[in-house]
Amino acid sequence: MQIPTLPSSIVLPRELSRFTELVYNLHWTWSAAARDCFAFVQPALWAATGNPVDLLQRVPAARWQALARDVKFLRAYGRALAALDSHLAGPRTSGYDARGPVAYFCMEYGWHECLPVMSGGLGVLAGDHTKTASDIGLPFVGVGMLYRNGFFIQQLEPSGRQANLFPRHDFSRWPVRPVAGKNGREVIVGVEFPGRVVRAKVWLVQVGRVPVLLLDTDIAQNCVGDRAITGQLYCRGREVRLCQERLVGIGGVRALRALGIKPAAWHLNEGHCAFLQIERLRELKKRGVKFDAACRRITANTVFTTHTPVPAGNEQFDPALVEKYFAGDCRELGVRFKRLHEMALEHPKRGPVNLTALALRLSSWTNGVSKLNAKVENDVWRHFWRGKPDRIQAVTNGVHVDTWLGSELAALFDRYGGPDWRLSLSDAAFWRATMARIPDSAIWAAHAAQKRRLVEFCRERTAAMRARHSAAPEDVLAAAMRLLDPDALTIGFARRFATYKRADLLFSDPKRLQRIVNRSGRPVQFVFAGKAHPEDGGGQELLRRIFQWAERPEFRGRIVLLEEYDIAVARRLVQGVDVWLNNPQRPLEASGTSGQKAGINGAPNCSVLDGWWPEAYDGTNGWDIGAGREFANPKRQARHDASSLYELLERDIVPRYYKNRAAWIATMKASIATVLPQFNSERMLRDYVQQGYGPAAGRI
Ligand SMILES: *Cc1c(COP(=O)(O)O)cnc(C)c1O
Repeated sequence: MQIPTLPSSIVLPRELSRFTELVYNLHWTWSAAARDCFAFVQPALWAATGNPVDLLQRVPAARWQALARDVKFLRAYGRALAALDSHLAGPRTSGYDARGPVAYFCMEYGWHECLPVMSGGLGVLAGDHTKTASDIGLPFVGVGMLYRNGFFIQQLEPSGRQANLFPRHDFSRWPVRPVAGKNGREVIVGVEFPGRVVRAKVWLVQVGRVPVLLLDTDIAQNCVGDRAITGQLYCRGREVRLCQERLVGIGGVRALRALGIKPAAWHLNEGHCAFLQIERLRELKKRGVKFDAACRRITANTVFTTHTPVPAGNEQFDPALVEKYFAGDCRELGVRFKRLHEMALEHPKRGPVNLTALALRLSSWTNGVSKLNAKVENDVWRHFWRGKPDRIQAVTNGVHVDTWLGSELAALFDRYGGPDWRLSLSDAAFWRATMARIPDSAIWAAHAAQKRRLVEFCRERTAAMRARHSAAPEDVLAAAMRLLDPDALTIGFARRFATYKRADLLFSDPKRLQRIVNRSGRPVQFVFAGKAHPEDGGGQELLRRIFQWAERPEFRGRIVLLEEYDIAVARRLVQGVDVWLNNPQRPLEASGTSGQKAGINGAPNCSVLDGWWPEAYDGTNGWDIGAGREFANPKRQARHDASSLYELLERDIVPRYYKNRAAWIATMKASIATVLPQFNSERMLRDYVQQGYGPAAGRI
């Protein structure tokens, strides 16, 4: 599927004419050859921004002229192009053979920090999903929104209060381009809103072979109120939120049609996009299909993934508000609004419009994102099916290995697994054998290099924050030079600061924690990061408390809280820490993926048996906080889990790290050998194709 874009105005020397292709195809986010080429162009600029569009716009013409004659650069450039071309022409091994692609709708995508249109795990998962669809050659097209103000940028004030910044992003600085229509102009789709038509411009993000269409209402044709619809991801205002969901669903289908795309299967990634089904009903109505038959048709080839049992993730609206926006659609469909409302009810007869309920009714196959999560979701939704058998299947999340694996470890895999190790991602025996071949000293050296990069990064970020807080120059310098000990046991905790993730569990007994971190000869340090939703007072309070603990003399330098948790921070953390900590309130963590990213980098997980971890934990590859014991009282549960965490640290983790390096390295290897083959996104995508997409596409 080739989607044309408007030409860019940048002119490069003829020899380098394909450089823009490298920049605007996000394949570079998982191609080391492309990134090496970018680094060559202007190392300091690349290191500072990590955004290749900056290279195009800021490197002067004279430099490009020089590069066009630089043999070393031309070699790097040739290698990058060869990698891209071989990816684009690579074998298609997905096994999906329907006539049309899979259309995947999601409110957020996380591919790289230079394209901030995500808030957390759901977005990163969607990013990894599209990258993997390209890897296996699955015919696939994504749909979402381009947010003028993104999610928000997090700054921590000297008090630990979270400041939420909403900058106006300049899309010309992002690796996205406007889609070009047949007339050579941009493609605009219109969606009826009360008393007006809202227009959305269609942008393209090219992810390897996979196009992703993002809608943007911030254009001159719209009034100021409508221009703000695609302003913020997960905005507070309920009505704007409904407008966004109407836009992405209805406008998304129209964008696909404007480009002549005829999907054979549809994937609602979370209920937020469920309104796309209303547009598909309208299409069928126009072709004369009766309402009930049309519902059956659109349901048959739709799959739906639910990602959380937590109420905030299950969108609900006041029916009167929904009627205001959907009355016209109902008239066109020849049904009363009551009919639409009934399809979106969780409980019989009355209640809010629930998009998860709507998505459940209008999909023929549904999944949760881990085995435990599927079980929990089935419990949550059992009343909904009224005695029918459980319907929610499990496809456990996985992570895109080339995105998250550190370069030093990748080099070790090249050397000891052979250059084709990417063809054996899900082969457990292959990974066991490869780990057995890697010398302990080699894996330790690779890990140490990745860890040094993390320490440097924490120093830079913390020094910058202290400078912004106008700390004394010595304090800024101390952070820049001495923060964190690259030889000390380093434990990472980073995720959204939703309260159920219990970021402060570690501080349940500060005295005991102080003894753990400060024991002479066996220091332990923790790096925290995470954003709290601007509406989540509880999450912001957690952040403030951790910030203040980190400032106390007894924890200073041992506990670090980084600002602005994004993909850049996540990448350094999961590649550099020694242990990944996760202590959610079971069973609210639907899957969790950050632990998988750390696990493939040889950082064993120390986690509550929630989400994906019960499927992975085998006694050799990490630790289980709380040993699966459950208490009805959340306070009691927290006391139990905290004391279990301290005990694991005191009795096993710290001594093993400092006193028994061979045992430690065995744990690292066990982590890679068990987590990588089972929790990579290729395994996940093949599950989706076999269980979801293939059967759905066959039901037309
Ligand atoms: C992986 C990732 C997440 C998801 O982490 P969980 O463990 O699922 O909470 C959130 N944010 C960023 C930036 C990530 O990279």
